[in-house]
Amino acid sequence: ATMPPLLAAIAVAGRRGTLVKDVTVLEALAEVDAVVLDKTGTLTAGRPRVVRVTPLGGRPADDVLALAAAAEAGSEHVLGRAVRRYALDRGLELPEASGFAAVPGEGVRAVVGGTEIAVGRPELAGRPHPVLDDVVRELQRDGRTAVVVLADDQPAGVIGLSDEPRPGAGEALEALRRTVGEPEVLTGDAPTPARVLAGRLGLSRLRAGLLPADKVAVLRERQASGRRVLAVGDGINDAPLLAGADVGLVVGGPAGSGGGSDDEALGAGALSLQAADGVLTRDPLGSLAPLVELARRARRIAR
Ligand code: ADP
Ligand code: MG
Repeated sequence: ATMPPLLAAIAVAGRRGTLVKDVTVLEALAEVDAVVLDKTGTLTAGRPRVVRVTPLGGRPADDVLALAAAAEAGSEHVLGRAVRRYALDRGLELPEASGFAAVPGEGVRAVVGGTEIAVGRPELAGRPHPVLDDVVRELQRDGRTAVVVLADDQPAGVIGLSDEPRPGAGEALEALRRTVGEPEVLTGDAPTPARVLAGRLGLSRLRAGLLPADKVAVLRERQASGRRVLAVGDGINDAPLLAGADVGLVVGGPAGSGGGSDDEALGAGALSLQAADGVLTRDPLGSLAPLVELARRARRIAR
């Protein structure tokens, strides 16, 4: 007798582009009183654009870009896709890469033309490099995400990427604030660009520079203080966060934000969904407050 309203709510949510795995997810959604949001691809549109390539260490900018794009060939991360797209749009020929490895929240590594290429967070440089650090800082002050390119562990360049807030993010967050509580941003990006974006969206609660495991640690703190936490992020780097949350929702269709074929959706896409309780396929931020309200209403009627 308790089932029909919750089942109906699954259908209503589905009509709005939110697919939840089962009625227990709606029950948990009715209880959430805290929300944590990933930045890249959640608060932002997830279509970062390369705005600058600064070569360091002698190679021309296009060579640095080609090496980075080649190393990112196997990456599902939006930053990796953006680097590849930009290189291909410039008509660059990408060398073959082998031995690809992605480290969630850090970046990627691959061997390109006999050189070990790493692309990822500035900390990968390992120690201070004054020129590289200056380029990184300047990009970050402008709200850009800075990604370093290392060749055999030596700085080869810095790539700056810009990602706009999702349209309507401000209103969506205001609704979420009223319905669930002050949203908290958990990001792997550096504090400066994270603060610039949060400022634009009127968000005051922010933790930056977090590795995927650090995000889980913050989640555990919230849960230890009695909060039922809704987490929203991408299914790749944020999988541990989504799995640990009271409700974890993944942004994008089954093939991630990049679309793709059915077979891709059933392969890599399916993996990215594994940790989540549901998928936000349309207007991911705008869907959240109405979804929680729907769940609360459905549960009230079911009782
Ligand atoms: P967010 O929490 O904003 O989603 P991630 O945890 O996905 O960020 O990544 C954190 C940081 O790690 C990025 O800002 C970037 O510097 C670096 N990074 C992760 N994956 C990649 C990649 N494929 N290419 C380049 N940089 C990456
Ligand atoms: Mg992410």
